[in-house]
Amino acid sequence: MLNLEGKTAFVFGVASEDSIAWAICQQLAAAGCRLFLGYQKRFMSRVFQLKDQLPAIEGFYPLDVAADESTREFFDAFAADHPGRQADVLVHAIGFAPRTCFDRPILFVEDADINTAMTISANSLQRCLRHALPYLAPGSSTITLTYAASTRYVPSYGIMSMAKAALECWTRELACHLGPEGHRINAISSGPIRTIAASGIPGFDNILNHVADNAPLRRNVTQDDVAGATLWLASPLAAGVTGQVIHVDAGYSITMVPETIMA
Ligand code: NAD
Repeated sequence: MLNLEGKTAFVFGVASEDSIAWAICQQLAAAGCRLFLGYQKRFMSRVFQLKDQLPAIEGFYPLDVAADESTREFFDAFAADHPGRQADVLVHAIGFAPRTCFDRPILFVEDADINTAMTISANSLQRCLRHALPYLAPGSSTITLTYAASTRYVPSYGIMSMAKAALECWTRELACHLGPEGHRINAISSGPIRTIAASGIPGFDNILNHVADNAPLRRNVTQDDVAGATLWLASPLAAGVTGQVIHVDAGYSITMVPETIMA
């Protein structure tokens, strides 16, 4: 186990015990890291139940990245309770697209819904980092979560494909912008995992089955697989890694022709 004793992390994106961010919290805590959670108010009761399971959680404040002001409020609340405190790690595990983005053919998705998906799922990385910067220690590590539909067509992922492409572009841009000050920003491209966010994607179970049958490791990844890679990126072992998209997907992204057609 990596040692992150004395380190502090902001973790955004815990909605339930199935959240990838929750597995990340558990592994960061096991490594000795102290945690400050940003949660969406609609998931407040679940987050309040979960936080009691993890003594490493020192603070938790509402966070809505849809607007600048509500994002700033998280950091204002953190700074008021913990003057002078800084974090070494920021985990951005946030994604959302309105239902209509998936219900309609992509040609007919409305501008407002596209903008919501892009703001929350992609541009919020920039928004979070802009407000976080005064509270990030030198040499900080930011990790965001993306999906391979950013570069290759996945049926039903729709507008979220554009959002993930933009998120990966933000990762590179921000890595170059903040790299000279020693801050690192990377993305983990996770294979499909059953979570609240994933439940909104039509045909998701079919995708899970297809990956399990065709990925080189012949299985789907788990929240713990993604959390392990996050821990590594958060640690000094990854001190030379920035601006990257690291695939944690049981190898599925290197395949082209599905193994199952040979059966
Ligand atoms: P999840 O539903 O547990 O987490 C999504 C989180 O986004 C929730 O905590 C939710 O509160 C937060 N969120 C949404 N809108 C927000 C807003 N306006 N302000 C603040 N927070 C907001 O699902 P998850 O699968 O753990 O998703 C975490 C990340 O992983 C997402 O970016 C998702 O796209 C990405 N990802 C998931 C999969 C998968 O198959 N589950 C695969 C690849 C990437």
